[in-house]
Amino acid sequence: VDPADSLVHALRDAVAQAPDRTFLAYFDGRISYREADELSDAVAAHLAARGLERGDRVAVLLQNSPHFVLAVLGAWKAGAIVVPVNPMYKSGEVAHVLRDGEVAALICSDRAWEAYLRQTAAGSPVRIVLTACERDFQTRDDPRVLGFERLPRAQDADDLVAVARQGGRAPEGRSPRPQDIALISYTSGTSGTPKGATNTHANVMHNAERQAAGLGLPEAPVYYALAPLFHITGMVCQFGACLVGAGTLVLTYRFESGVVLDAFAEHRPHYTVGPSTAYMALAARPDATREHFASFVNLSSGGAPVPPALVEAFRERFGPYIRVGYGLTECTAPCASVPPHLQAPVDPVSGTLSVGLPGADTVVRILDEQGAEVPFGQHGEIVVRGPQVVPGYWRRPDATAETFPDGELRTGDIGFMDERGWLYVVDRKKDMINASGFKVWPREVEDVLYTHPAVREAAVVGVPDGYRGETVKAYISLRPGAETDPGELAAYCKERLAAYKYPRQVEILPDLPKTASGKILRRELRSR
Ligand code: ATP
Repeated sequence: VDPADSLVHALRDAVAQAPDRTFLAYFDGRISYREADELSDAVAAHLAARGLERGDRVAVLLQNSPHFVLAVLGAWKAGAIVVPVNPMYKSGEVAHVLRDGEVAALICSDRAWEAYLRQTAAGSPVRIVLTACERDFQTRDDPRVLGFERLPRAQDADDLVAVARQGGRAPEGRSPRPQDIALISYTSGTSGTPKGATNTHANVMHNAERQAAGLGLPEAPVYYALAPLFHITGMVCQFGACLVGAGTLVLTYRFESGVVLDAFAEHRPHYTVGPSTAYMALAARPDATREHFASFVNLSSGGAPVPPALVEAFRERFGPYIRVGYGLTECTAPCASVPPHLQAPVDPVSGTLSVGLPGADTVVRILDEQGAEVPFGQHGEIVVRGPQVVPGYWRRPDATAETFPDGELRTGDIGFMDERGWLYVVDRKKDMINASGFKVWPREVEDVLYTHPAVREAAVVGVPDGYRGETVKAYISLRPGAETDPGELAAYCKERLAAYKYPRQVEILPDLPKTASGKILRRELRSR
């Protein structure tokens, strides 16, 4: 058998292997592999009949639902490039993506269409619109996440589920080839204007296959989608890897900690991956028990720093060990991870938890400002070369040349490597705080704050200071019922960090601002 060279081929293989196995579980709804194949064929047939051609862009703006998966598979079967769009994007951000990606078809929720996307799409290149009510495919309305009304059908859009149920065959000759672009992934926007990374099918398959094979999961694995599917981590490590392993993907629309725990209890998943903030939210629930986590073979976190204190506290209270991975949209999710038989070391000097070992066929180097490799243990920019690194940004030759000189990805992250090859991320280059000429990496201060029992979330930024140029400020949210005050938190850090590093300003907020993928938005805090 040929190895699958796209997720469309992986679906074909899964149908051959286990046609009646549940592929998608969504509240009370179940969709088997055979059904998903037929439903996505019909979506592809419809798109092609509406004039969509090979290489055209299809934007998908949906939460974690079967609709998302059928839209993506349908678009790929029609030969299109999928542009996953963050459903939290505001009108201006979506308009940028539709224009920049020259998007021909838009698949979105009917509520978003009515609320703002109709206006946003007017005057854009979009000529085909499919809307979805994400209450379809399930019978139990969970008011915690699905407590919205079914809207009357829009006159100016087709209904995704009706189209999928009407049947049809995917057009011939549109099968994705390995070097075709599978996704244009607009980077999550924790910095600057979103740019579209062009993940090829080969990029996606490399990481999906590595994840499917490298986690020690059982036959017919159950995946829970904690990360949003529109984000590259959710797309590749959950949807992609699950499909490659012919597993079951449990979807619950969007993150709501109580719904997540219920899904764990009901579906007994073997694997999930999510941002550290999701694990913090789960750990903050008094009703979370060891039993909720008993089925997990592998629990991963990536896309954002993971404080060592969280990993320890989590293991003590619930049992599983959270495996950290490191990746970017530009390398199609992970390029380093912690293998299932090992545990990540903590750097004895800085207390930073390693983000793992570089993956197979992947070369990670640490470079100084002049582009020379630095010795073990020394800080420098992390650069990555490997089969998951994208060929570049969509229609941005300048940004591509700058970020991918000779095809090697310059991550913009500062890190170091130890003698045994374990990689450590210090922080983003652009987040460094310069306090009277002293370099302060916010991450190090945050790691200390996370060891304080009252702290739920911490974010450290530089704020202008007349005397030092910049000074360190910490924003904190507290665990439910915990009590402390800014002075105590500052003193706590002062005891544990060099004098120029401790936060001279501390502000407690009810919640910290986050991206839809769960990353804390330092940029937003900086501009407060
Ligand atoms: P933008 O590119 O718009 O700033 P973003 O960088 O958040 O958005 P992503 O590609 O989702 O977009 O995130 C990649 C970044 O996430 C990395 O460059 C790194 O800074 C951070 N990151 C990922 N994994 C880890 C990790 N394990 N530890 C620390 N930081 C991480």
